[in-house]
Amino acid sequence: MQTTAVVIGAGHAGLAMSRRLTERSIDHVVLERGEVANSWRTQRWPSLRLLTPNWQTRLPGHHYAGDDPGGFMPVAGVVATLARYARLVGAPVRTAVAVRTVRAVSQGFEIQANDDLLCARAVVVATGACNLSAVPGIAGAVPPSITTVTPLTYRDPGQLPDGGVLVVGASATGVQLANEIHRSGRPVTLSVGEHVRLPRTYRGRDIFWWLEATGLLAERYDEIDDLTRARHLPSPQLTGTPGATATDLNALTARGIRIVGRLGRITDGVAQFSGSLANTCVLADLKMNRFLNRADEWATASGLDDELPPPHRFAPTHVDPNSPLELDLRNGEITTVVWATGFRPDLSWLDIPLLDRTGHLRHDGGVVTGAPGLYVLGMPVLRTRASTYIHGARTDSEALAGHLHSFLSSRRDDTQPSRAVRGTALRSRSGGALIR
Ligand SMILES: Cc1cc2nc3c(=O)[nH]c(=O)nc-3n(C[C@H](O)[C@H](O)[C@H](O)COP(=O)(O)OP(=O)(O)OC[C@H]3O[C@@H](n4cnc5c(N)ncnc54)[C@H](O)[C@@H]3O)c2cc1C
Repeated sequence: MQTTAVVIGAGHAGLAMSRRLTERSIDHVVLERGEVANSWRTQRWPSLRLLTPNWQTRLPGHHYAGDDPGGFMPVAGVVATLARYARLVGAPVRTAVAVRTVRAVSQGFEIQANDDLLCARAVVVATGACNLSAVPGIAGAVPPSITTVTPLTYRDPGQLPDGGVLVVGASATGVQLANEIHRSGRPVTLSVGEHVRLPRTYRGRDIFWWLEATGLLAERYDEIDDLTRARHLPSPQLTGTPGATATDLNALTARGIRIVGRLGRITDGVAQFSGSLANTCVLADLKMNRFLNRADEWATASGLDDELPPPHRFAPTHVDPNSPLELDLRNGEITTVVWATGFRPDLSWLDIPLLDRTGHLRHDGGVVTGAPGLYVLGMPVLRTRASTYIHGARTDSEALAGHLHSFLSSRRDDTQPSRAVRGTALRSRSGGALIR
């Protein structure tokens, strides 16, 4: 079968791209191994809620129209929203079609999907950034008597054995799971490395309102000093779960969760934690305050000081000076380890040598490097800091669909290089090429 473009994955990113391709009358199909919103149906724990407010769940041609714009969508709400969106945009989704390989050929790409072979001139990879858990190598040293789970296998505390739980990682996932497991009555120890502390609300507004208003989320990938670092930054210690609004380390400590440093090694069944927990927390507090300063300056410059409650600062993170540096995993105190150490994409089916050593596609703002006609969408800080979140797909899909359209036009007449091929199609405000 021949089609102009193939989009792989029917999450929000693939659906947004489908809408953009339809707007440009580009013939395409969306191949999805499960159902629309498959990751949300099969890979998220049931109590999860978006940490971004409902009003921010915007996609091309769609904005939140419910009666709780300040609320946080549960997983079922995300599934329903994406299923509705797929119908709204008439996305040509083929469900239960798993892509096995994608190969570059002279006319474009060959896509092996289930038992079919498809040919396309362009391929958009929208298979998600979080298909696999990024579990560190030291996991192999956990004694076999201990149950280990990842956020992809965790459902609820009921699946865990009785006894203490060590949650490794204090990003949004780690603090949310630590909180929920602690509420089930199990003693929880949370191992904290580098993390991002932000308050849920500041001066009466949700923190995502501030992140958007100050322009932080709109910062472009080609303007960020350390892009690799930005793309690997842990998610902020936030939750959308009602009744658990504060999930910073002070709140968790007050609830009785024990905080320890970064898990560095496990030697002979003994977990060893970094002694730099206090420094790590000072740094996170500093960065939070730096952002709050930026927020205050923006509010003043925008003439909003009279409308908003006055600026204030949050208590520094309290670190127990006697926080343990070791925990014996053999003595029965800990029965479960939760690896909340992040996610990574699964691109093992891509039969083109384009991955870096961390398994990520090499790309320039979503235009895959070294494979004309291949695009990727839905990765953290793909084109702006907002790309990490659902609403970022709005502008990302617009830019990439524009590039794809130019690419196809250029291929129609190879003797006349298109504007995109000459690198002039999409330029930054400062004149530098945005996507090449
Ligand atoms: C725990 C967690 C909480 C999050 N919370 C928020 C939040 O609060 N707010 C927010 O904005 N974002 C949040 N995100 C981030 C973001 O929304 C998700 O990463 C989002 O699911 C990514 O969307 P996507 O469309 O790129 O990928 P996905 O939703 O993962 O969709 C990819 C699709 O591709 C399919 N697929 C994969 N491989 C193949 C294949 N080989 N062949 C065919 N189909 C394939 C999958 O089945 C899936 O349906 C969260 C992410 C996680 C993991």
